[in-house]
Amino acid sequence: MPVLCTTGCGKNASLKRPKTGDALCKECFFWAFETEIHFTITRGELFNRGDSVAVAASGGKDSTVLAHVLKTLNERYDYGLNLMLLSIDEGITGYRDDSLETVMQNSADYVMPLKILSYKDLYGWTMDEIVAQIGRKNNCTFCGVFRRQALDRGAALLNVKCIATGHNADDIAETVLMNVLRGDIARLKRCTAISTGSEGTIPRVKPLKYTYEKEIVMYAHYKKLVYFSTECVFAPNAYRGHARALLKDMERVRPTCIMDIIYSGETMSVKEQVSLPTQRVCSRCKFVSSQEVCKACVLLEGLNKGLPKLGIGKSSKAKRMLDDYNAKQNEKLEEAINEINNESKKNNCISKGKVCRSTCKSKNAQSNLIDGKTDENTNTCNNERDANISNEKTNCCGDKICNRKDKANETSEPNSKAAKLLAEYGIPENNSVETIIPNGEESKNLISANNLSNDINSTREKESEKEISNPVNNEEFEVDLHTNDDIVLKEEDETCAGACGKIDSLHIGF
Ligand code: SF4
Repeated sequence: MPVLCTTGCGKNASLKRPKTGDALCKECFFWAFETEIHFTITRGELFNRGDSVAVAASGGKDSTVLAHVLKTLNERYDYGLNLMLLSIDEGITGYRDDSLETVMQNSADYVMPLKILSYKDLYGWTMDEIVAQIGRKNNCTFCGVFRRQALDRGAALLNVKCIATGHNADDIAETVLMNVLRGDIARLKRCTAISTGSEGTIPRVKPLKYTYEKEIVMYAHYKKLVYFSTECVFAPNAYRGHARALLKDMERVRPTCIMDIIYSGETMSVKEQVSLPTQRVCSRCKFVSSQEVCKACVLLEGLNKGLPKLGIGKSSKAKRMLDDYNAKQNEKLEEAINEINNESKKNNCISKGKVCRSTCKSKNAQSNLIDGKTDENTNTCNNERDANISNEKTNCCGDKICNRKDKANETSEPNSKAAKLLAEYGIPENNSVETIIPNGEESKNLISANNLSNDINSTREKESEKEISNPVNNEEFEVDLHTNDDIVLKEEDETCAGACGKIDSLHIGF
């Protein structure tokens, strides 16, 4: 026998609402679902009239439903919002390329402009390339950190007031559970906040904060929304999976446990003396960071230097890796310089530390060169100096018999090779003279190559105070997959922009 909709509309119920257990017809479910989100928006004062809002769109169920509902409510309640879609293309073949097609479809269906930013354009790497380099273990750390910054960049480009993300109640309850299980109470406030973002940053808001995942799926299904449900090909089996399984088990027994857990997270207080990191601007990319150098820059530096584990783990570990790397680079550079010099000695007359060009008569006297010096009895250059010590601007050997004495500024032959090397090592050519001194002195340019190491040192020093005051930060956790947090700063959790729909929750100390 059909059950009537409990709202009294007179229609037969067609579903049992997961959140309340009410038997509802489709229309009443839609109304209840949308109205709850409207209350979340108005009570949380998420938007102001006239705001431009970027909906972080992955093509998954959460962001698709969010875009659809925001559009509906914007029209129904006349919010006056200028809505647009912002997507990040991580460069995951067979996953993101397909889901982006869904986003494009949504953009057309909801008449919302779409902006897509790719990791390749922003960072020079796709996730496919990153995974090929680092393997499958910490891939989500890179993905999450880059995505957060990419969203910030996209929002800045679109000049929006805020970014609306598709975090749902299940995601937030899972994060609360995870933080409790890890003893990271300090993060509860942030992970349950409906709006996050400090001064100078573009805020992120979560209109679906109190919306159950099951209801989102139901809504998308009954509304026949187009969304992408394939899991990311790099999706991990993370710690979050255990929290998720636990939550689902508890939900079966007591559906309200999701809301109860969120409430617990909101009301658990953090001790006054626990210092939380402050936001600032990354000294390199100038985007928001909790550190001197942001996590995205550290990870990118690691990728570009062939040190993919840089940025995974404690800062002391990263510093060690950078020091080793720089030492090796210095060794290589010295070897290369010696090679150039040896070649020069073999092929050219060297006088006063400079290489004579073909016009120098002494070139013919190569056989008389002894350790880079000419034999005084051969009537050639009277070079008394070692080949490696000159910084003078002249290429002339200085000898009376050298015909090039007055062509002082001409470039010596091996410099093109040196320039190539300098370019290879990322050293500006105008300082090349200082750089190629192979006498053990550290050149200015090599010091600048160590800048990141210094930045990290300085960050580390500053962070040490925080670590003392906040023992939680002192721990080195295994990087949890589906992660997206910055170094030490426990940023707000981010839902994986993949259709996997999970919230990232990186927990690393740096
Ligand atoms: Fe990125 Fe999510 Fe895929 Fe991890 S599972 S690689 S965070 S899209």
